Amino acid sequence: MTQDNCIFCKIVAGQIPSTQVYADDDVIVFKDINPAADMHLLMVPRKHIATLQDCQPEDQALLGKMLLLAPKLAAEQGYRYDGDPENVDGNGFRVVVNNGPGGGQEVYHLHMHILAGPRPWKRM
Ligand code: 5GP
Ligand code: ZN
Repeated sequence: MTQDNCIFCKIVAGQIPSTQVYADDDVIVFKDINPAADMHLLMVPRKHIATLQDCQPEDQALLGKMLLLAPKLAAEQGYRYDGDPENVDGNGFRVVVNNGPGGGQEVYHLHMHILAGPRPWKRM
């Protein structure tokens, strides 16, 4: 289930190199080529789905898996909320899914951004 001329399908297939930090049968995770934050990972399902709004009930397990995986990968990169809401810098992470041009989506293969660092949203 790949789409011609899809850059993320090519990365999934190994035709374009990436700095991979995780892979399994369903997803791959690699570093964003143009990071907007100290940590900027992209989690990409192997299956080509253009946007979040194209997801179907059959994709529920995949989406749940992606959300559960994000905190584990963030923790591996050193970003895990320690329970102290006063401690801000580096103490947590965020996930973002851009949907459509109005949502800032540039690559039309579903992906989750996993971002962290000092106020990454101020640099986005
Ligand atoms: P979007 O705006 O679609 O949500 O995010 C697409 C992201 O993919 C951008 O942050 C962009 O920097 C990243 N990106 C685009 N092409 C490549 C690539 O070839 N390799 C990697 N590692 N990231 C890419
Ligand atoms: Zn694709």
